[in-house]
Amino acid sequence: MLNFSTLITIIFIMKYGNYFLVFLIFLMACKEKAETENKGVFIEQTQSEFSIIIHGGAGTIKRENMSPEKEEEYAKKLEEAIRIGHDILRNGGTSLDAVEKTINVLENSPLFNAGKGAVFTHEGTNEHDASIMDGSNLNAGASSGTKTVKNPINLARAVMEKSPHVMLSGSGAEIFASENGLEIVNPSYFFTEKAMKSLERVKASQEDKVASFYTEDIKDSKFGTVGCAALDKFGNLAAGTSTGGMTNKRWGRIGDAPIIGAGTYANNNSCAFSSTGWGEYFIRGMVAYDISALMEYKGLTLKEAAKNVIQKKLPAIGDGAGSGGIIAIDKNGNMVMEFNTSGMYRATMNAQGDLYVGIYKD
Ligand code: ASP
Repeated sequence: MLNFSTLITIIFIMKYGNYFLVFLIFLMACKEKAETENKGVFIEQTQSEFSIIIHGGAGTIKRENMSPEKEEEYAKKLEEAIRIGHDILRNGGTSLDAVEKTINVLENSPLFNAGKGAVFTHEGTNEHDASIMDGSNLNAGASSGTKTVKNPINLARAVMEKSPHVMLSGSGAEIFASENGLEIVNPSYFFTEKAMKSLERVKASQEDKVASFYTEDIKDSKFGTVGCAALDKFGNLAAGTSTGGMTNKRWGRIGDAPIIGAGTYANNNSCAFSSTGWGEYFIRGMVAYDISALMEYKGLTLKEAAKNVIQKKLPAIGDGAGSGGIIAIDKNGNMVMEFNTSGMYRATMNAQGDLYVGIYKD
């Protein structure tokens, strides 16, 4: 039997059905807008002569958990890194050089999960992944699971330029690195107290699981990978990503960072891209290539494509576990920083030298 209120509702819908439907669609549109527009940052630079964008990892990064000193430390390092790349571009250098040298600064800092600050594997080692891509010719290079190469992004570039391959891994990649004169360090160089604490913490609670990087800096977990994308004065796009991966990873686990199309992509017809987040989901979603393809084949703008993938498609993979963020730049210099976490270390600079540095969602 229908109760009184159901009856009234049915009569209402029958009488004002069309208006009701329109109202319902309006409500749903508002909800969707609120869900997709509350995190990303878009900087319009249409026809900018050159621009550069970087990230130092996404995660549960909240203002209330961060001390002003740490905040300044992160902001300064981001600025130092992006200014290196910006100078290269301003002086007529290539986007590839800008990407590589900018990432070197972040790799040499213990603040980020890449190079010096890399997280630990289950066995207490550091295994680095990196990749780089040239948007002008779709050349790409990557390395995974290296333990002694000081700057993995340099190795990725050497693979691209000095080998007939796209990806080298483990000890073979290390032999290739030393044969090509790259700096080799003792694995102890990569030790940091905070990365070790993060490993111990994960093992104590969930021995066999991988986890993002817990650090006292933010009193929570972050991913911490670093990445850069740039557009140079010749109209060429390039991107690169470097990481230590996930805390407590084992069995030679490889994330999205060295996988072209997942963690890194560059194509002069669409965009240059670098990601940070739970790598398995970025691989399953082929996130970098998906954004590029939405632009190239469907005509979406970078902003539309990035929002669609990072706020909708990625979280939908693995029942909401697909968390992280991306930075990307298109051929007109438009820059997008889209993330579905509470924060992402990030910075941009345009041809005029305007600097933007951000950490939190707002
Ligand atoms: N994406 C990286 C990985 O899964 C982690 C990170 O962003 O820090 O290996």
